[in-house]
Amino acid sequence: MPTATVALPDLRLYIDGEWIGAGQRRTRSVVNPATGEVIGALPLADAADLDRALEAAGRTFQVWRRSSAAERGAVLRRAAQLLRDRVEQIAAVATCEEGKTLAEARVEVQAAAGLFEFYAAEAARLYGRVLVRPTGSRSIVIHEPVGPVAAFAPWNFPIGNPARKLGAPIAAGCSVILKPAEEAPASAVAVVQALYDAGLPPGVAQLVFGVPDEVSRQLLASPVVRKLSFTGSTVVGKHLAKLACETLKRTTLELGGHAPVLVFDDADIDRAVQVLTTAKIRNAGQVCVSPTRFYIQAGVHDRFLEAFAARMSAVRVGDGSALGVEMGPMANPRRPTALDALIRDALDHGARLVCGGKRMGERGYFFAPTVLKDVPASARIMNEEPFGPVAIFSRFKTFEEAVVQANRLPYALAAFAFTENGRRANLVADAIECGMIGINTTAIAGADSPFQGVKHSGHGAEDGPEGVAACLVSKAVHQA
Ligand code: NAD
Repeated sequence: MPTATVALPDLRLYIDGEWIGAGQRRTRSVVNPATGEVIGALPLADAADLDRALEAAGRTFQVWRRSSAAERGAVLRRAAQLLRDRVEQIAAVATCEEGKTLAEARVEVQAAAGLFEFYAAEAARLYGRVLVRPTGSRSIVIHEPVGPVAAFAPWNFPIGNPARKLGAPIAAGCSVILKPAEEAPASAVAVVQALYDAGLPPGVAQLVFGVPDEVSRQLLASPVVRKLSFTGSTVVGKHLAKLACETLKRTTLELGGHAPVLVFDDADIDRAVQVLTTAKIRNAGQVCVSPTRFYIQAGVHDRFLEAFAARMSAVRVGDGSALGVEMGPMANPRRPTALDALIRDALDHGARLVCGGKRMGERGYFFAPTVLKDVPASARIMNEEPFGPVAIFSRFKTFEEAVVQANRLPYALAAFAFTENGRRANLVADAIECGMIGINTTAIAGADSPFQGVKHSGHGAEDGPEGVAACLVSKAVHQA
């Protein structure tokens, strides 16, 4: 497994218009998950840094809220172009600190650029509404930016998550303090750098790293912050929502998932196997919308399982920066440990291992693509998000039975169904509780459509017009 060592750019905080290095601050090591080697030292913000960021966020909000749609659009459009110009550098950094393949990292940079471009256009469409009544009275409804946003982004999409967290508030006229994951910080630095190189006024977007619990408690206790935006696990999301509740902040929460996949007897099996295995190994399964619980109709179960497992067993696993590698390591040592425990528990509950099920290699955090079958609903893995390259197979007979299984969990983020029957496609899209469903596809995220969960997978949308709307509040102005 050859390793392309990439020098991480300077890891810094960006507070009140200034890039800030470690100085006397605490630092935290950044590790390449393919090798386990330390590749950088990240400065961690202290309480004084966060106070300074809060004060600046309140001040720059008053400036940016008055910016024109043209100005917001121009910054986001230029930043998109800079991301595209820098795609190779940024992708190499993301692969080095998060582990995903270079091909995936390049797609992520392009998607982040596409999102900025969409938001640039959306900034020009923040219209209000006029109500004209028969009596002659008139009212107008205007949309105003919600205020300074505190945003927390996880490590699994180190470019895309920060872009999501920054693009919508900037388009809406908000200031934003972003705390990306400390485990993959250099990609976020690159996104923020692109915005400033594109002409964003100093301090509108600030970047802090720190001890997550310290940062979130301090930012969310502040009355300056008017909105919490969090992507991560359901447990942490609920905790942050409680903190935000004290000052009644608006919230957008994109939390865990446990996506069901329903494959019906009439599906195009070859295509379903190809599409679903590709989605399953994406970012080593560390994707909140990763297909996880595979419910396969009895007539095609064995054929589908055999083809799926054959493809999973053949996946080329290795350092994401190496040519030809299809799946990189897991992002941190917690993931293989957690996955190991979930698989052991499933086997103890009577599940059968079809392939994989173990760590790989002498160094780094690699885990073999895994398929489990006959997994009882009582096994932990059927109820907790595995967040790894594991597919869990069950068999079903009727449509109704499959829908009950799909809706069984409190998670309700993404779902997938494969059928060539158009009526069944409509019925299943209506019947599944989720924020997004892919019928004969796993491509369910796009700059122009809402990315969101329901139930314990969260609320509020990112992307699409809905993503910008989530950073606005409306005001009604009545005139006699
Ligand atoms: P975790 O629950 O400890 O952390 C999840 C994210 O929340 C991380 O980015 C972390 O930095 C952040 N976080 C944790 N505590 C925080 C706090 N007190 N204040 C602010 N931010 C905080 O788990 P983890 O080991 O990093 O990831 C494992 C689980 O997280 C996965 O099983 C998955 O369920 C979930 N996750 C979900 C997504 C997603 O896209 N929805 C992304 C990454 C992780």
